[in-house]
Amino acid sequence: MDHLPIFLDVKGKKIIVDGGGTPAARRAERALNAGALVSVFCPNLSPEFDTLLMNANLSYFPRAPEQADFLDCVVAYGATENDARDAALYKMAKQANVLVNIADVTRYCDFITPSVVDRSPLVIAVSSGGNAPVIARILRARIEVMLPSAYGRLTKFVGGFRDAVMDKLKTTDQRRHFWENTIEGQVGDLFLAGDPEAASQRLLDDLDIATSASDTPQMGEVYLVGAGPGDPDLLTFKALRLMQRADVVLYDRLVSPEIMTLVRRDAERVNVGKAPQQHTMVQEDITQMMVDLAKQGKRVLRLKGGDPFIFGRGGEELEELAANAVPFQVIPGITAASGCASYAGIPLTHRDHAQSCVLITAHGKDGVLDLDWKTLINPSQTVVVYMGLSSLDILSEQFVKHGLDPATPAAVVDNGTRANQQVITGTISDIHQKVADSEIKGPALIIIGSVVTLRDDLRWFTETDSTDHAMTLQAQESL
Ligand code: SAH
Repeated sequence: MDHLPIFLDVKGKKIIVDGGGTPAARRAERALNAGALVSVFCPNLSPEFDTLLMNANLSYFPRAPEQADFLDCVVAYGATENDARDAALYKMAKQANVLVNIADVTRYCDFITPSVVDRSPLVIAVSSGGNAPVIARILRARIEVMLPSAYGRLTKFVGGFRDAVMDKLKTTDQRRHFWENTIEGQVGDLFLAGDPEAASQRLLDDLDIATSASDTPQMGEVYLVGAGPGDPDLLTFKALRLMQRADVVLYDRLVSPEIMTLVRRDAERVNVGKAPQQHTMVQEDITQMMVDLAKQGKRVLRLKGGDPFIFGRGGEELEELAANAVPFQVIPGITAASGCASYAGIPLTHRDHAQSCVLITAHGKDGVLDLDWKTLINPSQTVVVYMGLSSLDILSEQFVKHGLDPATPAAVVDNGTRANQQVITGTISDIHQKVADSEIKGPALIIIGSVVTLRDDLRWFTETDSTDHAMTLQAQESL
């Protein structure tokens, strides 16, 4: 580490800013936000200073700074882009023992101005040690997106209970555990969901429980999280947050390895994946395991492919948790129908093709196809079939038998949204044979309806990355 990161208290203290352009304005603004008394030196100021000049803590001097100005000053910023003036400022600051930073002139810098994510009172400062400020700025932007803006308020809220917790919990370990559970647990979630009163009540209840430190472990929690169809970029922020928080993860076969790398490193992993005809764990055991782990105080991540409430047996699992009084949260995921359709260039509804879309499973309770054909046979509707690959022959035959036009377009999307995605298109009459002739093994989704024809025009825009896309367009233009 080349620099010492510190957060300086400059409230009521003098800071000099030499310059009148944008960099000077940014520095003056940040110093004012931190409560400093700012003296700005420059014969002419840019309009960016208009609002800053209204701040009572800013004094303006339309001249260059002099040695006497450095009396009682703690920090000096130079941002004039004038070598002679920068050098003079640096010399005066050094003479007065004042920390100095001249914008973009490393040799005249005692310290670096970091890129800042401000969620006051929570502040994150990023520095590249002066090597690549742009990288620091890019990182800052990423953190900015990752951090809900309510985190600042959460920090303040938590700060309000600091003394009470200090009073009641005597050891550092006890307090650390308490705060981890509070901030990353239900109190934090309630607060971030906009219910500070419930959060505050819960925090006080938790504190009482922690204080009376009984031997029985506290109840844990289950996060039922939808991991989407495979591409990790399709996870929600909330899913990612809970994945980073779990003590133990129970995951399905459908959860892609790329997504598993995003689960907290230290979390214990249990593969409860159910491949067709090859049940790793029966459903009842999975549910029981979740209940047991939660009762041991664990944060259990139940990670499922797609959306937990769409052919994911999420509802059944939750019923059991509720019956055992285990608290839970459900985080929706992008279901295979949305993911596969988007990545294959097949809009599920379209004004000229389909006014409705139904999601069905071809995996009946006892392996028998028991579908409501009357509602399924409709030329202005898209039918999406989950778990239908192994019964595609019977399925297509039955669709035609029940009155669907044999020329109705159909597509099978295999490993949708993943790097190895494959799409096979045809009609309801020949799709089965085309799939049989291919190598695909699933997971695969079947899309039936005239929207499938739109893929011919849209696939180039959805299946190629932006570079390929640009090249395709160029190639078309040059023809
Ligand atoms: N809860 C999941 C569905 C689970 S059922 C969801 O919302 O997506 C399992 C079926 O989903 C598979 O048999 C297959 O039909 C479909 N499926 C899941 N992921 C898929 C993917 N990446 N590509 C194609 N089909 C997928």
